[in-house]
Amino acid sequence: MATAAGTPEEIDREALRARYQEERDKRIRTDGNDQYIEPVGKFASLLDDPYTEVVPREPLSDEVEITLIGGGFSGLCTGARLRQAGIDDFRIIEGGGDFGGVWYWNRYPGAMCDTAAMIYLPLLEETGHRPSQKYVFAPEIFAHAKRIAETFDLYRDVLFSTQVTKLEWDDAAARWVIHTNRGDVIRSRFVSMGTGPLHRPKLPGIPGIETFAGKSFHTCRWDYGYTGGTPDGEPMSGLANKRVGIIGTGATAVQCIGPLARDAQELFVFQRTPSSIDIRNNHEIDPEFFDELGPGWQKKWLLNFATLQTGGFADEDLVKDGWTDISQRIRDRIVKKVSEDGETLTPQLAVDAYEESDDEKMTEIRARVEAIVQDPQTAEFLKPWYRQLCKRPCFHDEYLQAYNTPGTHLIDTEGKGVERIDETGVWVGAVHYELDCLVWASGFEFGTDYGRRCGYETIGRGGVTLSERWADGMETLHGMHVHDFPNLFIIGMNQAANLISNITHNLTEAGSTLAKILGHAQEVGAEVVEVDEAAEQAWVSMLEGNEAGMLGNPDCTPGYYNNEGKPAGRREKLNGSGYPEGPVAFFEFIDKWRNSGQFEGLDFRNAKTMD
Ligand code: NDP
Repeated sequence: MATAAGTPEEIDREALRARYQEERDKRIRTDGNDQYIEPVGKFASLLDDPYTEVVPREPLSDEVEITLIGGGFSGLCTGARLRQAGIDDFRIIEGGGDFGGVWYWNRYPGAMCDTAAMIYLPLLEETGHRPSQKYVFAPEIFAHAKRIAETFDLYRDVLFSTQVTKLEWDDAAARWVIHTNRGDVIRSRFVSMGTGPLHRPKLPGIPGIETFAGKSFHTCRWDYGYTGGTPDGEPMSGLANKRVGIIGTGATAVQCIGPLARDAQELFVFQRTPSSIDIRNNHEIDPEFFDELGPGWQKKWLLNFATLQTGGFADEDLVKDGWTDISQRIRDRIVKKVSEDGETLTPQLAVDAYEESDDEKMTEIRARVEAIVQDPQTAEFLKPWYRQLCKRPCFHDEYLQAYNTPGTHLIDTEGKGVERIDETGVWVGAVHYELDCLVWASGFEFGTDYGRRCGYETIGRGGVTLSERWADGMETLHGMHVHDFPNLFIIGMNQAANLISNITHNLTEAGSTLAKILGHAQEVGAEVVEVDEAAEQAWVSMLEGNEAGMLGNPDCTPGYYNNEGKPAGRREKLNGSGYPEGPVAFFEFIDKWRNSGQFEGLDFRNAKTMD
């Protein structure tokens, strides 16, 4: 067995693999994604907006040139790029009461972004904002979203508190028809979809979940009216006499458990799989240092991070964080093996370097748990037994410490999850935990049908929906264009750069690409822009020929990174695929593609010449 504090040389790799396998096997279940339920029916009110009152308005029935669905960073980055390109005739439709997307909705206490703000916050040079800290809290991110909207005049034509319910292509008129929950029927020549990868909350399908009679809410709809406090960190005085339970210990729970432990009379954390918690080391951004960064600094930082995080080489590590640390260790090992130990550089050598670095990192992470958490049994339960990238890595300097707070109890479920819920609380084993309040930190839809994740269906030429079209896996050119769905542009990362450690980088690039495409359409007077079927299929074949990385790795402990532990088929591989040569190569490729003026693979045509 590997000792928690062992050096890489001391790690018993065979024993470690056996332990990883044993822990994974405990968690494997046959229902995969079906274990979760949608917030519909009795749970539909969990989606209500607790932050903004929905003001009644007359339904709209009009026409716009371009519609951007989603006012999160996808819509904001695309809107900014369109304005920069002088393209002004667009409207944004957003379900929330303001811009911000996930940062509008996720206001849970302690919410922050664990990708460094210097690269995560988009358009910093354009807006002149200096992040206050290396990693910033949600209110600052939400404020930045609004800053982008103000800088680029995006409040000019926006429909807030408006949820798209259906998007349908009218082939004869060459227009998209957008239906919303406010009764709007809007016709739009072009539609850009920025609905985000992880925004529709899901609930665990625990028997009896519907019977709980206490207060309950999902982390992405935090009810400060009940808990007291504010997203800025004011104490939640409403919890001072409450027994609070939280289900889930993913990236979200890791951030809000500290404040809950501080403020609740008693806190019960129901854990199925512990997260890996690496060091955060947050610090302020020095204004003098920031002021001296020259023009173009953010692009340089973005590419530096993307390069280092995905295994490339660079002279210096500008971001220097937990994401680049693991890559740094792998690189150092490869260099040592080749230049000092005289080994030949082969794919196996790279795999060995990765595994050794990961074993070392995870051994450190388990040792950190032991060093911080005072109760040995609790510390044992909090140790993650899997590779770091099997699940979303977490970085925090207060989470583990929270378990030293009197009144905070970790209820480990031996990988099985909560067994049953009743009117008054939660059952684990033969023990009933009586609760006043139950917080769902159970995550967001991933891997389910596209329409279900968006919250609406997109119906293309011939009445086919995107969900049907992608039933056997996403098929696009560059992640953005889908044949039979003309004039529709998907803003995301899959089948493109797929840089999951810094999502907004994908979005600013996609916004630039779309601005070029629409600029060209205007120049040549094209009414319809559609990907050629052969070009789409060539792109898909290229992606299919590539390994899907961790997303396809059934050896990992189950989670949304690996299809909940079920072997990945074509659908899962395609849905999670990215450019085979990696994000940096994709960014270079797409920059050349959009600036070549050729837009290879796309047809720009007049509606009259359509088939
Ligand atoms: P996750 O899907 O990561 O976590 C859900 C949690 O619920 C898991 O711990 C899961 O356990 C647990 N769970 C599910 N069902 C049960 C059950 N029946 N009994 C007990 N536990 C259960 O959701 P999060 O909201 O934490 O994070 C989602 C994503 O949001 C992150 O991966 C990240 O991409 C993003 N995020 C980003 C942040 C940032 O800093 N940029 C911050 C927060 C979130 P198990 O692990 O066993 O499945």
